[in-house]
Amino acid sequence: MAVLLSVEEVIERILDQLKPLPPETIPLDQALGRVLARPIVAPLDLPPFANSSVDGFAVRAADVSTASPEHPVELTVIADIPAGVFPHIPLSAGCAAQIMTGAPLPDGADAVVPVEHTNLSFQKVAHQPPSIVRIFTPVRPGDNIRPKGQDLTQGQLVFAAGHRLRPQDLGLLAALGMSKVEVHGRPRIALFSSGDELLPPGSPLTPGKIYDSNRLMLRVLIEQTGGEAVDLGIVADTLDAVHIVLNTAVEKRANLLLSSGGVSVGTYDHVRGLMEREGEVHLWRVNIRPGKPLLFGKYRGVPVLSLPGNPVSAFVGFLVFVRPAIYRMAGLPSAPVPVLKATLEHAVESDGRKSYLRAIVRHERGERLVRLAGHQGSGNLYGLVQANAILIVPAGVKSIAAGSEVEIWPLENFLGQ
Ligand code: AMP
Ligand code: MG
Repeated sequence: MAVLLSVEEVIERILDQLKPLPPETIPLDQALGRVLARPIVAPLDLPPFANSSVDGFAVRAADVSTASPEHPVELTVIADIPAGVFPHIPLSAGCAAQIMTGAPLPDGADAVVPVEHTNLSFQKVAHQPPSIVRIFTPVRPGDNIRPKGQDLTQGQLVFAAGHRLRPQDLGLLAALGMSKVEVHGRPRIALFSSGDELLPPGSPLTPGKIYDSNRLMLRVLIEQTGGEAVDLGIVADTLDAVHIVLNTAVEKRANLLLSSGGVSVGTYDHVRGLMEREGEVHLWRVNIRPGKPLLFGKYRGVPVLSLPGNPVSAFVGFLVFVRPAIYRMAGLPSAPVPVLKATLEHAVESDGRKSYLRAIVRHERGERLVRLAGHQGSGNLYGLVQANAILIVPAGVKSIAAGSEVEIWPLENFLGQ
């Protein structure tokens, strides 16, 4: 029997064939999930000017050092500074300026007294600023002021290249006034399901047929991973149909063609047959369970990754092989997907292949415990749905004793890293 390739070697050989996609400049509001092609340096200070962090009165701290409710300090109100207005009058001794949260501090002021610590409340002075304010508490210089550059200073490195943009990152880039960013291209993944037995959900189920579950599952996995899916539908088990879909993927300028089904040793497994005849097969069959008959190659210059048709094999194959491939093309630095450690609740038998088993993780008294989730048949998608983790059994291991420390991938939010 031919030696199966190890999971690690297959990942390496796939990644060797893929490069980060060239940079493109896109509007910031379309950049969620995209990966920066260049580092970002702050073009300005944040905040850009010293401003008040409360609604209150800008003062000179020295003027109010003796203030108390019994002996308030009386100051002359010389200005009203709403947010968005730059004050031009400097604040001299004995004076205060009514100031709102986010409004720039006038020259001469070095602290802000919150309105609650004065004799006024802003509701009562909606239109006319008061001429006098009584201050009840002292403040130290700097109190209730957000200094210029407190958060970020101009020229500071904000993000390294290779950073994937999250919602809060977009907020920060907007705060820095940026409306465009330079990011790596989004990987275009053409996708098809292979098999004469497959019907699209929504059509009547006829004898001998099943519904195509892989295409939708893989499409949303592609999208969640940061790729763009180009859905090429269900492809019949004929050489001609497979030929046509491979050519369509090339014409649609796919960066990767992903298929499920048709790469095993069956009579009608034409994807592999066609790839052997018309394309290049770089590797086939991996020491993995589920999902041994995986194929990677190229067709007219487009990388092709064909997963086995069994839905759980396709899902695991996606996590193990396609996810790193999409990350590489998207420009993310290649690092193995982080695993968590857990304690095995019962003994597990394996067959020596690297195994990705459906499992259930729970926490008890500060310990993370894991057990297998029901039937492990690679066609049983409901078993996968009931699992909340994948238990990874290393290659060469045939049994693991109860109580051993094992590695898992949580399935909840597993793409949110
Ligand atoms: P194959 O890899 O083509 O030999 O298919 C292996 C098993 O997976 C068979 O039982 C197929 O019917 C099933 N299968 C293949 N493709 C799909 C799909 N897209 N959705 C659900 N089951 C599939
Ligand atoms: Mg098939």
